[in-house]
Amino acid sequence: MRILFYDTMDYDKKSFEEELKDFTDMEIEFIEADLNPITATLAKGFDAVCGFVNSDIHAMTLEILAGFDIKLVLMRCAGFDAVNVDVAKELGISVLRVPGYSPEAIAEHAMGLALAADRHIVKGYNRVRENDYALSGLLGTTLYGKTAGIVGTGKIGAAMCNVVRGFGMKVLGYDVYENPALKDFVEYVDLDTLLEQSDLISLHCPLFESNYHMIDAAAIEKMKPGVIFVNTARGGLVDTQALIDGIRTQKIGACGLDVYEEEGPNVFKNRSSAVFESVVSTLCSFPNTVVTSHQAFFTKQALAAIARTTLSNGRAFANGELDTLPKPNIVC
Ligand code: NAD
Repeated sequence: MRILFYDTMDYDKKSFEEELKDFTDMEIEFIEADLNPITATLAKGFDAVCGFVNSDIHAMTLEILAGFDIKLVLMRCAGFDAVNVDVAKELGISVLRVPGYSPEAIAEHAMGLALAADRHIVKGYNRVRENDYALSGLLGTTLYGKTAGIVGTGKIGAAMCNVVRGFGMKVLGYDVYENPALKDFVEYVDLDTLLEQSDLISLHCPLFESNYHMIDAAAIEKMKPGVIFVNTARGGLVDTQALIDGIRTQKIGACGLDVYEEEGPNVFKNRSSAVFESVVSTLCSFPNTVVTSHQAFFTKQALAAIARTTLSNGRAFANGELDTLPKPNIVC
């Protein structure tokens, strides 16, 4: 099977090349360009394509791929909001993904962001580098005994529930389905109750049309004053302008973001010499806000697991053995 890998960086290449030793039936060509209607034409002659979080795999891209008789889109990530699944189904294109490659990696980063923002770790570090040892402006919160609200309690949300529990926090959960593995220590409540009662709110649900901007001005209004807010799920879950207003009015006391609405052109790119207006620069201007760019998944263990599962997905498809894959790997 010949697969064209889009949007690849040196670390992707390294992790996949290490795994390829066990997948000699697969041949990969790595390119830097992301998958979209223009670059889809490069896939002519390949059996499958591999996309990532910011690929544009909507109708036009899928139609071009189908025109080249490509029947498989491998997503080397958990989220598949980059794909128009209905169109893929209509065109007979299978979409496979990598769910839960290292949920703890994302949860650990989410807690890192909460601490970095609330305990002003980046600011403190920069002060020490300048020989400024003053503490004023660095006051934070003891999380022990406070309440954490986890929105979405699937694999990553469950890992986050365990992390906050380890900090001695009471844990509230909101999800469309309750996770039975958490019943001993997570109290499920409706979203409004979670927003009203939590001292730390962390998002871990997928983005759908139905929950676009689920955190808007009205949701922020319901939060406790000074709440710590963390989003490592998807930027579109949060209305950025409402978030900025919430930080400005100090309703939100600390904010940690690994995802944000305008991340599309930025993600995994060095744009330090570009001149452009950006929401990120507004967010970064707040002393209580820390932003990273979609790096929550980025651990050695996660990259190895992503490579292994992506290649296993490709092999199962090539051998007509999709029924051997765990169900969550199959988007359509
Ligand atoms: P999962 O499918 O295991 O869990 C998602 C949970 O969200 C499920 O329990 C589901 O019932 C719940 N859910 C669905 N709609 C909801 C809603 N409207 N409100 C509340 N809960 C809802 O997925 P996961 O592996 O835990 O990943 C969660 C999300 O994290 C992914 O969809 C992706 O967007 C994001 N993610 C981010 C990174 C990163 O590097 N920042 C990496 C991987 C995944």
